[in-house]
Amino acid sequence: MPRPRIPRRIDTPPRFLQFKPVGVPRRLLETVTMTVDEIEAIRLADREGLDHQPAAERMGISRPTFTRLIEAARSKLAMCIIDGKELVIEGGDVDYEHSLQRCRDCGDEVREATDAPREETTAANTDPQAEEACRACGSENVDDLAELALRGRFRGHNRGRGQKVRQSGQRRGEKQ
Ligand SMILES: [Zn+2]
Repeated sequence: MPRPRIPRRIDTPPRFLQFKPVGVPRRLLETVTMTVDEIEAIRLADREGLDHQPAAERMGISRPTFTRLIEAARSKLAMCIIDGKELVIEGGDVDYEHSLQRCRDCGDEVREATDAPREETTAANTDPQAEEACRACGSENVDDLAELALRGRFRGHNRGRGQKVRQSGQRRGEKQ
């Protein structure tokens, strides 16, 4: 009987979800998909400089699992940089410790613990699904990075937004 997969613990949703080489039209590019847990492994080991054991503990996985994860992630990064492929961060069975919202108009970012109580300000804010306006500029163009990363919002530019959405992670996304 297969063991149930335990969601991997992610500190904060990735801030950037798509990268491409300059000077190559997108229609000519192959896309490499990196999952949220893979980019978290890169962040912990290569950006924060953690050894594999403490990095594995941060994500709630074993050290050998972390090592396999980061090797896969580095291989994908190398492919993108050396061979000139588009990199898309998307999907993964993960739990976020923090949410991250970013305003598309002024770039303001708000990071909050996912178990923090929501502020109850006005009656209009009682709908938990309602988009919150940017606290800095008031714009309603606020992206939920956790949702975007798990739903693959940035995929499928030529096919219509959202058609190639993967199922993995959607279950988690509903918590937001
Ligand atoms: Zn704003």
